[in-house]
Amino acid sequence: MNTYFSAPITSLSGVGEARKKAYARLGIYTIKDLLYHFPRAFENRGDIRPLSDVQPGEKCAVVLTVSTECRVSRIKRGMTLLKFRAFDDSGVCEITFFNQEFLRSAFPLGATFRFYGKVEKTGNRFTMTAPAYEPYTETKALPPLFSVYPLTEGLSQKIISANIAQILPVAAAKLEDPLPEDIRTAESLVTLPWALKQIHCPDDYQSLHEAKRRLAFDEFFRFALALGTMGKTPRTTGAPVCAVSEETMAEFLAALPYELTGAQARAVADIRKDMATDTAMSRMMVGDVGCGKTVCAAAAMFVAVRSGRQAALMAPTGILATQHAADLLPLFDSLGIKGALLTGHTTLAQKKKIYAALTAEDPRERLDVVIGTQALLSEGVSFAAPGLVITDEQHRFGVNQRATLSEKNAHAHLLCMSATPIPRSLALVLYGDLDVSRIDEMPPGRQRVDTFVVDESYRARLDAFIRKNVGEGGQVYVVCPAVEEKPDEEEGLIPLWADFGREAGYYEQVAAPPWEQSSEPDMKAAVQFAQELAARMPDLRVAYVHGKMKTSEKDQVMGDFAKGEVQVLVSTTVIEVGVNVPNACLMIVENAERFGLSQLHQLRGRVGRGQRKSYCILVRAGGGDTAKARLEVMRTTYDGYRIAEQDLSQRGPGDFLAPVSGAGIRQSGGFRLQVAEGWPDASLMDHAFNHARAILAEDPELENYPELKEELESTFSMAGDILN
Ligand code: ADP
Ligand code: MG
Repeated sequence: MNTYFSAPITSLSGVGEARKKAYARLGIYTIKDLLYHFPRAFENRGDIRPLSDVQPGEKCAVVLTVSTECRVSRIKRGMTLLKFRAFDDSGVCEITFFNQEFLRSAFPLGATFRFYGKVEKTGNRFTMTAPAYEPYTETKALPPLFSVYPLTEGLSQKIISANIAQILPVAAAKLEDPLPEDIRTAESLVTLPWALKQIHCPDDYQSLHEAKRRLAFDEFFRFALALGTMGKTPRTTGAPVCAVSEETMAEFLAALPYELTGAQARAVADIRKDMATDTAMSRMMVGDVGCGKTVCAAAAMFVAVRSGRQAALMAPTGILATQHAADLLPLFDSLGIKGALLTGHTTLAQKKKIYAALTAEDPRERLDVVIGTQALLSEGVSFAAPGLVITDEQHRFGVNQRATLSEKNAHAHLLCMSATPIPRSLALVLYGDLDVSRIDEMPPGRQRVDTFVVDESYRARLDAFIRKNVGEGGQVYVVCPAVEEKPDEEEGLIPLWADFGREAGYYEQVAAPPWEQSSEPDMKAAVQFAQELAARMPDLRVAYVHGKMKTSEKDQVMGDFAKGEVQVLVSTTVIEVGVNVPNACLMIVENAERFGLSQLHQLRGRVGRGQRKSYCILVRAGGGDTAKARLEVMRTTYDGYRIAEQDLSQRGPGDFLAPVSGAGIRQSGGFRLQVAEGWPDASLMDHAFNHARAILAEDPELENYPELKEELESTFSMAGDILN
């Protein structure tokens, strides 16, 4: 790379120590980092309206000519007020600035400006307070989209824009494009310098769209190359051979209260075959929620233990680990297998005991299995006779956690489980090195969860339906999403991830992707909803659970729900993953339009697990026709793969990639999925992945692609410890 771009940010004029520190807070250290610091949104300043067309309180642009001199008056506590009037063909507007006396000469009589901000109306007078302003002439068009950058203290929009403006001309002249030219032309992608210029300062919607398309392609391409060259699980030999006879296996099967389904039996057979050799198993078990992956995992653990080895099962949350332990430890106990639960919640004394029992030389003293959370990755945990490591809901773990896991267990057999059906194209990149067992059959007697989409007008009937289900002895989940409480300045912004579509000016508000949703306000929503519900139905036992609660509190509430002591559980999506309460028969999702379809599918999988007829009711609070059409898919489709494909094509791959990239990669210098996550056209991703795979197949070390190799290496050396 040209050394200009790898130079520290301080080599820009106007960036000294203070700004360097501020930039560091944004993860920006080099010129290239700043070049890749994309706007998070755009102000739609090209949407110029006559004053008479403006809705009061709405942010928009107006072009006005100054018609009075600026008047400055002093008001209380030394504050100054600067006022003038300006007009267009349709009206007159009074414009006010506070404490900006220096602007006195900025608005000469007769000059025309484009103002952007909120227009208010009092009586028949329009007013604007502290609007953004740019001198306006008929001859030179102003850019329609104004970039809004993520900020930190000490850096304003102005400073960041000015610093980026210094870089762009150099980028246009000197930046080398690491993407092979034949790929660029085959995919009709714009050049990199042009794309970078347009994402920072778009000429128009179409240009921004093309820029995003190019940059999204790059992110996909790099993502695939990175996962293809690093973070792979090597097929090590020297794994313990774990094989048991049919008679021994029959002992396990006899201990189950049911027969395995055909699909489960096939998965177990795959696993047994893998474990019976000294090449470490590297298998992914996928299957829709409720298909019964846990018991297959238990079978694998049984095989390891009966072969004289130990097994570990790691789940992404304490609730889930606890539930697995509650299900499996009694089963293992009945087979004479010693197990323990290890979570962040385990006391130090207990932990020490478990650590010791895991390393005990004498098999009679030794723990055979351990079930837990990420706590299993902590230093103290090691095994006397490691045999098998299983991760549940694998996609919830980040690349670095997975790397730790496979590093710590270099010679153990690895089994991953996931209920998130990942579209094939993504699965190839995310799990390309894993063998896959698909459980495509539900245990017998499972019923379809009837799904309905309703709006707020059904509230009374919904309450009655809750009562009816509880009255019949059932239990109810209500899930509330993150509430987007947009600060004032967010209004009217077009976020970077929004799809402008191919038409200029077209922009539709879709559900914010999960990485944009803040986790703080959602607990308020759940708590408030629970309180309101409890007030409406004082005779029902209502409780709530959210991610901000202490693990022990969460476990307590979930436990009460599992025992049937709580009848209605209001929650955020913390219950999304894996929890099993067969008596629950009604799932209500509030503001369903804010969720990804796959997420809704997961939530729906929480009910219909027992004998009771079960329902899923999606309450739609807005979102327009797109949301309606999206939710309609849920009503008509029960196939997790089809739902996942829909998600991919409507929301982009963020829902699938965020858990992977989110665990470290996203925040790190050069490897951010800023544009790609929300890219709605799945074929772009497919193509990028295909090109990456084709290159890696011929040239796994990228010997013939020095620019690409260098880019990846510089990215990951910047990313530092992310991948190991
Ligand atoms: P998931 O694949 O989502 O992890 P679980 O393993 O939690 O699903 O299984 C869901 C439920 O189905 C559990 O209550 C489990 O006991 C039950 N189950 C699993 N396999 C069978 C089977 N073959 N027959 C009947 N019930 C089963
Ligand atoms: Mg599960």
